Amino acid sequence: MRKQILIVGAGFSGMWAALSAARLADMHPYQTVDITVIAPQPELRVRPRFYESAVQTLVAPLQPLFDATGISFLQGTVTQLQPASKAVMWTDACGEAHSQPYDRLILASGSHVNRSFVAGAHAHAFDLDQLESAAVLEQHLKALAHKEESDARNTVVVCGGGFTGIEMALELPARLREILGRDAKTRVVVVERGPQPGARYSDALRDVIVGASAELGVEWLVNAEVESVDACGITLKGGQRIASQTVIWTVGVQANGLTAQIDAPRDPQGRLHVNSQLQVTGYDDIYATGDVAYAATDDKGHYALMTCQHAILLGKFAGNNAAAGLLGVAPLPYRQENYVTCLDLGAWGAVYTEGWDQQVKLTRAEAKKLKRSITSELIYPPKADKAVAFGIADPLAPFV
Ligand SMILES: Cc1cc2nc3c(=O)[nH]c(=O)nc-3n(C[C@H](O)[C@H](O)[C@H](O)COP(=O)(O)OP(=O)(O)OC[C@H]3O[C@@H](n4cnc5c(N)ncnc54)[C@H](O)[C@@H]3O)c2cc1C
Repeated sequence: MRKQILIVGAGFSGMWAALSAARLADMHPYQTVDITVIAPQPELRVRPRFYESAVQTLVAPLQPLFDATGISFLQGTVTQLQPASKAVMWTDACGEAHSQPYDRLILASGSHVNRSFVAGAHAHAFDLDQLESAAVLEQHLKALAHKEESDARNTVVVCGGGFTGIEMALELPARLREILGRDAKTRVVVVERGPQPGARYSDALRDVIVGASAELGVEWLVNAEVESVDACGITLKGGQRIASQTVIWTVGVQANGLTAQIDAPRDPQGRLHVNSQLQVTGYDDIYATGDVAYAATDDKGHYALMTCQHAILLGKFAGNNAAAGLLGVAPLPYRQENYVTCLDLGAWGAVYTEGWDQQVKLTRAEAKKLKRSITSELIYPPKADKAVAFGIADPLAPFV
């Protein structure tokens, strides 16, 4: 009887899980394993680039790749996981409900920024978390040119000084000059709860972030917490106001809500605890990968972060191991010793670090060149060619 692997999500992790499972199934053609992906669109949305302009173009089609590799695609949204009956309920684009059975389920439904825990943020702040919301932000920024000149119009507040906030903030001085003109007196402020800019990073990386921010005129307000957001700006705890027509929210990222439908331990961000095979604790037939997985990367106490570099490799191992279970092949324990970061710093350039201790290896134009090659080539889907895609889908193929 044919066995079914069902993958929820066609992002970085879901796409690679599907390819890796298809690769292993292809290596055992006497067995019959079918691989199906369910997602709202057959496209990879390149979230790491959503701080850039022309955001609607930052997608890559997946249907030709799935066709070339024998992966079935169902266009829709999963609404309910039913582990007891090994099925998921999903709704198609016309709103019709369906049930889809599985022998192995791979949850790869990603994450989203949560704007609802600060008063007014949901209604008045923008974000760059998903294609639709990033497109709304881009339209808003462009429309500033047609608004009456004021401090509030010329000021952008970025809430949160993590990687997403930094990349957005340091991109903005040039973007605002393009939109408002070279002579406009623009202001970009990063509001950060920590005691200094980049406080959670290594000293070397922090120094680069501080230097680049200063050179581009990006201000940091540290030890600062947002109390509320309204149509005219933000109020900080302590009462300080910043007038702004553009407040961008980047903090409070949570794993996709489907994780809460599985009765298993989760981390504070909602990620499901998984073992080294990437099976969810207590469920041999359910795997979690990418931003929904809380997975140890090594034996030194490091865990996967919500990043593409982890999502891609987690996906390859999850797909391989789900197929291995059905094919009677030994699974591969997930390991990802290397950790690098490459942070875009706008007109200043970029910074590239290696290791969990974030040693700075490249800066400025050299790092920017690397950043471009990562975000416009490395993380894009492979060519729609079975041999090429399966070669890269091998979990043990060289990666960063
Ligand atoms: C602005 C921004 C900048 C970033 N910068 C970087 C960076 O520089 N470097 C880096 O490594 N990472 C970066 N990241 C993080 C990176 O984008 C994520 O870690 C990565 O996308 C996670 O991959 P994923 O496959 O788990 O989830 P996603 O890529 O989000 O894919 C999730 C998939 O699940 C689908 N889905 C969701 N819900 C359902 C449902 N109910 N039913 C069916 N399908 C569903 C979605 O449509 C999508 O196809 C950034 C993220 C953002 C938002």
